[in-house]
Amino acid sequence: MIEFRKIYLFGVGFMDIHYFKNLLIERKEQILRNLSQTGAEMEDLKNSEINDEGDYASLCTDNLIDEAIQQQQLQELKEIDYALQKIEEGEYGICEMCGEPIKPLRLKIKPFARYCIVCREIVEKEPH
Ligand SMILES: [Zn+2]
Repeated sequence: MIEFRKIYLFGVGFMDIHYFKNLLIERKEQILRNLSQTGAEMEDLKNSEINDEGDYASLCTDNLIDEAIQQQQLQELKEIDYALQKIEEGEYGICEMCGEPIKPLRLKIKPFARYCIVCREIVEKEPH
């Protein structure tokens, strides 16, 4: 565990953890806001009367897109919670596959990244 800490400090840096934690929390709050907004819009939609068939079709398409985005955001929310948990456990910023530190630049783009770039490519190529 002590050795793990050393890698972790070496990889991401102690100060940066606060930066990434803030990034994750901000992103989480943004998603939660988005989701509650979408929820409210859905309610409006249910309460509004639809007279025109064309309108109805376009509303359905919008709903499908909204739903896909919502699913994506819920998934991201899970990843963020997982990353926050890893920060608490002192395992943040370590690739889950090879155990090497993930580059801070990558974490800035995707703060909840679980794998380094090399392993990410391997994971993505694997059939699910
Ligand atoms: Zn890796």
